[in-house]
Amino acid sequence: MTEHSSPLTFDTSWQYAPAPESADHISLKSRYGLFIDGKFRKPRSGKYFDTINPANEEKLAEVAEADAADVEAAVKAARRAYDKYWSKLKPAERGKYVYRIARMIQEKAREFAVIESLDGGKPIRESKSVDIPLAAAHFFYYAGWADKLAYAFPGRDPRPLGVAGQIIPWNFPLLMAAWKLAPALACGNTVLLKPAETTPLTALKLAELIQEADLPPGVVNILTGAGETGAAIVRQPGIDKIAFTGSTEVGKIIQKAVAGTHKKLTLELGGKAANIVLEDAPIDQAVEGIVNGIYFNQGHVCCAGSRLFVQEGVAGEVIQKLKTRMQTLIVGDPLDKNTDIGAINSRTQLETIESYLKIGQEEGASMYQPAYPLPEKGYWCRPTLFTDTAQSHRITQEEIFGPVLAVQTFRTLEEVVAKANNTPYGLSAGVWTDKGAKIFGLTQQLRAGVIWANTYNKFDPTAPFGGYKESGFGREGGLHGLEAYLQL
Ligand code: ADP
Repeated sequence: MTEHSSPLTFDTSWQYAPAPESADHISLKSRYGLFIDGKFRKPRSGKYFDTINPANEEKLAEVAEADAADVEAAVKAARRAYDKYWSKLKPAERGKYVYRIARMIQEKAREFAVIESLDGGKPIRESKSVDIPLAAAHFFYYAGWADKLAYAFPGRDPRPLGVAGQIIPWNFPLLMAAWKLAPALACGNTVLLKPAETTPLTALKLAELIQEADLPPGVVNILTGAGETGAAIVRQPGIDKIAFTGSTEVGKIIQKAVAGTHKKLTLELGGKAANIVLEDAPIDQAVEGIVNGIYFNQGHVCCAGSRLFVQEGVAGEVIQKLKTRMQTLIVGDPLDKNTDIGAINSRTQLETIESYLKIGQEEGASMYQPAYPLPEKGYWCRPTLFTDTAQSHRITQEEIFGPVLAVQTFRTLEEVVAKANNTPYGLSAGVWTDKGAKIFGLTQQLRAGVIWANTYNKFDPTAPFGGYKESGFGREGGLHGLEAYLQL
């Protein structure tokens, strides 16, 4: 059953005037090569692919497709840079380079934010206030550790691993690059980074910035391409460490490929986070947190609060308030400062989300979407709420990666813990309550790497992030994030 909001409940008599962010100040090349050994080079195969704007399906640039020979060339450059300069450089000097990258990201924050929204479809508000400042913050944070590793691990002998291969997804393109690059470089490793095929542009702009920052050639190499390029990185024998963020499915393939080799591995995979609202919670605040946890960012977050558990006494009120709030969310141009929900990242992802909307209805859940119109071109999905769901439903078990929330109710804390933990994932969770004791009680019992209390989706470079079970292993961020790039 599908329920659409009645036009009468959504006041269309007024709208915000468009407030588009200007894109005049950005500079994009029509074609990008591979960033190897400090220079942009043509791919050996001569192949390029398009990266498009998912909000209007227009081509933004052509990007090189790296094959195994390009990967090998990048590994050689990274190894040379490691042996010749980076591992020999005084840690304080290494730290200065990482600081320089942080400062330059801040200086170019506007350009990075616009390109992130153009290439990935996320609202400019999000790119400007979350992605880019946090990316800079990660470089600042890890720059500070470069010459203090001995203090981070007292009594041990922290040493870099060598060459790291890093593969990242499309949901936070520059931020994921920062999460991977900053600790690796601060610890003295050299790297090959592969951005996702649908969002390569901010990583390529970062390559330009790294050139400008005068980093020794080969310390950072940025290779574009799709799964085959990623697989070539994973197979490369000259790599000492693989760090991957992406789907659980690909994570499992990578784990098998790395098994039995000398390569160290960290995996940050999918999630199906439980966002739990207790009867004593501040309801309006919780509703805003639920919206922030799933709808902002199109649900393109592995830690999205995609399963909502509401205690029975307040379920009616929470669902009603949520529907009202959903009607006011603005879906549209990612570059408009008023936009809450931007474009879905790719046609493939939109098709996946739409298939889940169908599955949810076939499973017998009730689907609610606000009725407002969507732009004609581009990839769009209305914020969606499923009620009457069961633990056995695929929409409550599987990661959808879209603005789709499945609601369940519960009576007791024991019941909600059992339900929330009944998932193959364990990345994150949220708890909304007035009582500190309940927060501590629940956080002890929930099997999730990150748990937010009375807030959601808040990040800080000092806080470790990572999952349990099929959400992966290893932690990124904070002191824990250093361990992934050191032998101790
Ligand atoms: P998502 O579902 O979020 O797109 P994927 O796991 O498919 O996640 O992609 C995450 C990253 O992994 C992307 O950079 C993608 O190109 C890369 N990738 C995809 N398949 C493979 C593979 N077999 N080996 C290595 N990397 C891969």
